[in-house]
Formats: sequence, structure tokens, C-alpha cells
Amino acid sequence: MTQPAMSEARRYQQLRAQLAYLKLNEAADALPRILDAARTERLSLTAALERLLEIEVESTEARKLASRLRFSCLPEPWSISDFDFSAQPGVDEKLIRDLATLRFLDDASNVLFVGPPGVGKTMLSVGLARSAVEAGHRVYFTTAADLAARCHKAALEGRWATCMRFFAGPRLLVIDELGYLPLPGDGASALFQVINQRYLKSSTILSTNVGIADWAGAFGDATVAAAMLDRLLHRATVVGIDGPSYRLRAHQNHADKLRQAVNSRAS
Ligand code: ADP
Ligand code: MG
Repeated sequence: MTQPAMSEARRYQQLRAQLAYLKLNEAADALPRILDAARTERLSLTAALERLLEIEVESTEARKLASRLRFSCLPEPWSISDFDFSAQPGVDEKLIRDLATLRFLDDASNVLFVGPPGVGKTMLSVGLARSAVEAGHRVYFTTAADLAARCHKAALEGRWATCMRFFAGPRLLVIDELGYLPLPGDGASALFQVINQRYLKSSTILSTNVGIADWAGAFGDATVAAAMLDRLLHRATVVGIDGPSYRLRAHQNHADKLRQAVNSRAS
């Protein structure tokens, strides 16, 4: 059919079908709305096209973000802005804000959170990881025990190389809770290999309750511990948190409230 013979209605149908064929579904859905706006607001052709494609770009970005978030396996929806710095005097707010700019990803440096339970190590790790996901990076969150178990299983099933490739992949890998559970036999060496292959290539955030001086004891193997620390610390920001436990603080508040309630009923 020649173009002039094509009716406006037909042309509209065809345009919509073409957008759908190209899988620009949001743009296809928005087409009638944008055409109406173009007429009533007297938009230029460029402005109308720009508005139409902006809708598609926004929905693609949202889809990609959702997919990166799903992949990252972040255990909580925390972000850095949820962290109450006034409740944790043991944390240097300026340092955390600086880390949140994600410059550490550019030179593949690492972040180590060291401190006792409940001080916010996981929360800060998740917060930084979330910032990285939102900035478009591939992020993966795991615990030291899970990583060790996964590598062990992979070795048994002849998938060691695939497993190592998986842990090498993310731009940021978070390894939480090192030292909480004893790593199984080959766990320390699996962890070392993961750290070693990421060394100088991509960043790792590691959180642990074991002071760096005690790593040798915690791994049972002083040589592996030294080699791992050597890689991890070569380019790293170490955030030692020795403030009060937020978890215990919550318990304390809860206990105080209960006590007050009991007392007021008794009086
Ligand atoms: P850790 O990993 O050091 O054991 P978490 O990060 O899991 O501690 O924190 C324990 C709990 O306390 C979590 O629910 C966390 O959200 C909360 N929490 C810890 N520190 C803070 C803080 N400074 N502001 C707000 N919530 C906090
Ligand atoms: Mg934790």
C-alpha cells in the first residue's frame, strides 16, 4: 500500500504494532496518550518522540534495577540512609558517606567491617551493596558459611571452576559473618581462592567479628589466614566498630517498656 493511501487510523495501528513487535511495550501502551498530548499541547515532533521513548527507557531501567536487586540476594531492604549514626558513635559517618560514593569500586579496593555482634556491620554492608546495585553494578551478597558450603558442594559435583567463575563475576561481592561459624575443612581455602581471584580486579566487602590479629586462630591455618589478609588489606578500608550493640539496645528499650507497664499496673 502506498503511504498517502494509508488512513490515519491505519497508520496509528501499524505504528502501535511495530512498537509491540520491537518489544517497546510501554511505548506502545503510551502511544495514544502521547499522541493526544502532542495534539492538545502542540508538541513538536521531536518533543513527542522524546516523551514516548522516555517512558520506554524508564521502564527498562526499572526492570533492570529489579533484576539486579533480585540477583544480589540482599537479605534486607536497608540503605545507608536507614543507618542511625547518632546511635552508633563507634562508626565514622564521614568515612561511611565516602564509601557510599562507591569510589572504592573504581580501584577494586575492599571494605572490612570488624566488630562484635549487633553493631551494624551487616546493615552497613547491605546499605553499600544497595547503593552499588542502584548505581548499576552487579552485586552479590552471601555469608562466609554459605560461600564455603556452596564451594564444597560444587567441588563434590565437579563444578568447581563454574563456582569460582560465579564468585569472580560480581563487581561487588559481600561476604558477611566471617568467624561466626567455624568454616568446614576446605572452607578457608575456598574463601582464600575467591578472595585471591578477585584481588585487584573487583571489590569485596567482608564483615567479621574476629579482630584482624586473631585471624590465624580463627582459620586454624595461619598461612591461609596471612595470605588472605595480605590480599584483602592491600587496598582496603578497615572500619572497626566497637560501639554498643543496637540489637541489645532494642532489647533494653523493650525490657524498660515492659518494666514500666508492669510497674504502672502494680501501682
Ligand atoms: P551486625 O551485623 O554487626 O551483627 P546488624 O547490622 O545485623 O549487626 O544490626 C543488628 C540490628 O540492629 C539490625 O536490625 C540493624 O538494622 C539494627 N541496627 C544496627 N545498628 C543500627 C544503626 N546505627 N541504626 C539503625 N539500625 C541499626
Ligand atoms: Mg551481621
